[in-house]
Amino acid sequence: MDDAISKVVRSGEYINGKAVLDFSSNLAAYTGAKYVIPCANGTDALLIALMALGLQPGDEVIIPDFTYVAAAEVIALLKLMPVPVDVNPETFNIDVKKMTDALSLKTKAIVPVHLFGQCSDMAPILKIARENALHVVEDNAQSIGSVYTFPSGERRQAGTIAAAGALSFFPTKNLSCYGDGGALLTNDETLAKKMRMIASHGQSKKYFHELIGCNSRLDTLQAAILNVKLPYLDTYIHARQKVAQAYSEALEARPDLYEIPECIAVSTHVYHQYTLKVKQNKRDALQKYLKERKVPTMIYYPSPLHRQPAFRGVIRIGSDLSETEKLCKSALSLPVHPGLNEEQIHYITGLLVNYE
Ligand SMILES: *Cc1c(COP(=O)(O)O)cnc(C)c1O
Repeated sequence: MDDAISKVVRSGEYINGKAVLDFSSNLAAYTGAKYVIPCANGTDALLIALMALGLQPGDEVIIPDFTYVAAAEVIALLKLMPVPVDVNPETFNIDVKKMTDALSLKTKAIVPVHLFGQCSDMAPILKIARENALHVVEDNAQSIGSVYTFPSGERRQAGTIAAAGALSFFPTKNLSCYGDGGALLTNDETLAKKMRMIASHGQSKKYFHELIGCNSRLDTLQAAILNVKLPYLDTYIHARQKVAQAYSEALEARPDLYEIPECIAVSTHVYHQYTLKVKQNKRDALQKYLKERKVPTMIYYPSPLHRQPAFRGVIRIGSDLSETEKLCKSALSLPVHPGLNEEQIHYITGLLVNYE
């Protein structure tokens, strides 16, 4: 890592240096995407994808209600209408039935979020999109490396299933850099070209601006760091899966208190988060108990999107949101990073299994 960094420092090519190009081809090879457009962060990736779709102000974009704010935020920034829909409590991902019921004449796009490490159920989502002429952009900030299997048996990596997929390399993500970073994946040449232009001030040639764009670049330094880490991604994922398996095996002893995360048949799970549902309204007390014993946990997400003050008056509620409401009160994410050792896992499961 030190070598990779000092090489960039000595080169002086801090913007669009060789490491950025290398990273694009490395990531294309890993994901199977034909085109990779590096950008500044995952939120920008979503913004650029939506800008490239040619949507009109007031067009509706369906998103899950239980997710990080980024997708809803860029939809609203573009004067489009976010339409939050409830999620399936087993997978934490968008409820396809409720999503279908939420369609209106103004619906133009869907942004499924592959939450916590597992793909949304993309086959029915793509079918509904085809039938209704909707664009689909995957928010894949959390699930790089996860593989989805279609009913036909075809397998595709998260982020390469729909028209475009947005990735984030924020330091907590499964593939992360030493600051902000992001990328777009697509197999569509025309869309790739447009997104690349938008990320670079709408220009295909220097000082000729064909589109209104933005300035969104992956720093050469961050690309160099990602080039070092990418070959280890599968090892990291495997380590996360082992931690998750150890948790699930231990916590099965307490079905009265915990619902362990489900692994669905159509998607592999890369455990960006290991998220429990804590029963009996004990989530907050349990979190405090763990914190006092030096076990850090996180609540993803404490509030549904539709309850965030920023979105008052700028969303259309797409479905009943009761499962999201429940998850915001019961979900608790345990440490699941690849560096956890057996002793630490044992300590954590011991506390959880014996919790009163
Ligand atoms: C992290 C994240 C983003 C945003 O990525 P940034 O790189 O922080 O902009 C978007 N969506 C989801 C689901 C995320 O977890």
